Amino acid sequence: MNEAAPQSSATQPFRVAIIGGGITGLATAQRLKKLSPKIDVTIFEASRRLGGIIRTEEADGLLMELGPDSFITNKPGGIQLCEEIGYSDKLIPTDARFRRSLVLSNGRPQPVPDGFMLMAPAKPWAILSTPVLSFTGKLRLLWEYFKGRPASSAADESLASFVRRRFGTETLDRLVQPLVGGIYTSDPEKLSLRATMPRFLDMEAKYGSVIRGTLAEAKSSARSPGGGSSGDASSGSGARYGLFAAPEKGLGDLIHALEAWLRQHSGIHFAMGSGIQSVERCHEHGKWVVKTAEGQKAFDAAVITLGTHTAASLLPASDAASLRKLLTSIEYASSAIVVSGHRLSDFQHPMDAFGLVVPAIERRRILAVSFSSRKFLHRAPDGQIVLRTFIGGAMQPELMAMDDDAMVAAVNEELTSIFGMKSEPMFAEVVRYNHSMPQYHVGHLDRVAAIEQTLRNFPGLYLAGSAYHGVGIPDSIASGWTAAEQIAKQAAA
Ligand SMILES: Cc1cc2nc3c(=O)[nH]c(=O)nc-3n(C[C@H](O)[C@H](O)[C@H](O)COP(=O)(O)OP(=O)(O)OC[C@H]3O[C@@H](n4cnc5c(N)ncnc54)[C@H](O)[C@@H]3O)c2cc1C
Repeated sequence: MNEAAPQSSATQPFRVAIIGGGITGLATAQRLKKLSPKIDVTIFEASRRLGGIIRTEEADGLLMELGPDSFITNKPGGIQLCEEIGYSDKLIPTDARFRRSLVLSNGRPQPVPDGFMLMAPAKPWAILSTPVLSFTGKLRLLWEYFKGRPASSAADESLASFVRRRFGTETLDRLVQPLVGGIYTSDPEKLSLRATMPRFLDMEAKYGSVIRGTLAEAKSSARSPGGGSSGDASSGSGARYGLFAAPEKGLGDLIHALEAWLRQHSGIHFAMGSGIQSVERCHEHGKWVVKTAEGQKAFDAAVITLGTHTAASLLPASDAASLRKLLTSIEYASSAIVVSGHRLSDFQHPMDAFGLVVPAIERRRILAVSFSSRKFLHRAPDGQIVLRTFIGGAMQPELMAMDDDAMVAAVNEELTSIFGMKSEPMFAEVVRYNHSMPQYHVGHLDRVAAIEQTLRNFPGLYLAGSAYHGVGIPDSIASGWTAAEQIAKQAAA
């Protein structure tokens, strides 16, 4: 495909290269086709499979999510994409029978206090009876109601600093760190509150208390049907279990549906097994030249949907030095999931929840266990359960050095100790995600603003994915849509 020479716009359609065939790349293509059906789109995917981190497998009546397992519905990305491709009727809600979470406390799984949403107790009285906090820890948490605003507030603050000053160290260590760690796999001392859960900073500023703000918002959302979503990650996570949805047949089925939708449209090309080696601007004709092992091709616009370090490595060191430097300033963490199938009768614990989060101070080798087939129906036959146990993350990177057998053995030991597992799983599979979790450290919003500012010097080049404005599937979709909208404007200009 050696075709770097400029094409006459009178004879050629506007051509776009999308680099990466994960959900971001596919959503970018979908929005482009919706906005400008005549735009010619090529999706370059390094592997032979679409979906990227999203991967679903089925075997012996078990449905296993090897990456994400659901998405939040109070952000438009996921739900709206499903509506636009005619897929909404394939989505199922979480199973109401098991809508609660557990947290490990002194070696024992205990319920997360009723109504506790990441850091905000929507039912303060439920705090009084939890065995997870000491008496003084409870008083310190509830005192937040009376604490008031700080004399001066910083533009950004780490999660740990905020929770420590508002609710005390025990609430941070025993509840907030493990609950937030389950989403971001991050070090709370570094995680930016402004970039991940601005709602809590805003509550402090508006109500002088997170508890007051939570109670006020709960009241107003009770008055307005379907109301109460504020759009940030915190607004639907934690205890609002009903806000998550998943395709009945797993997220891999959504990827198949999206691919099928795209293939119904003309001017969509899938270049599978095409790892991009470089993306360079041709100063002569202003196009973007995308290079693979097979050759190169020129495009009017290129969207890179990869992690920021890989994106930087594709750009020319000379021309894009400052952009490369900014992109590599975003750190990533690695994690692994051990997906395992069990007989329910093999556990002494009833496993009657959506999962368990593990505080770092418990000093275990696992971050969290998701009870996959308790969260959603149709994941396992009666009497069986699929678990997804998370390992590593920013807090325990050294555990990623374990080989697969050691990882499975470590998980088995932890499941035995925590849930009274009586025999080995029916199967266990390790899936590794190296440098796949962008870390939204304090100052993240400034870093992203600087990236976006610098990107203006590269007309026709776009960046999308989970590194910029939210880590979840709906955020990734939204970032692809934003890129598509900008490209459609460029094409129309
Ligand atoms: C373990 C884990 C669990 C998660 N769980 C959830 C969850 O439950 N809910 C949720 O909302 N979000 C979850 N997320 C986040 C969610 O998975 C991401 O937001 C989303 O999948 C990112 O998609 P993407 O397309 O941007 O990236 P990716 O899925 O990483 O896709 C990038 C694609 O680019 C390809 N590629 C790489 N290099 C090249 C190259 N040089 N040339 C061409 N192609 C290339 C890759 O093969 C890949 O297919 C989770 C993330 C992880 C890591």
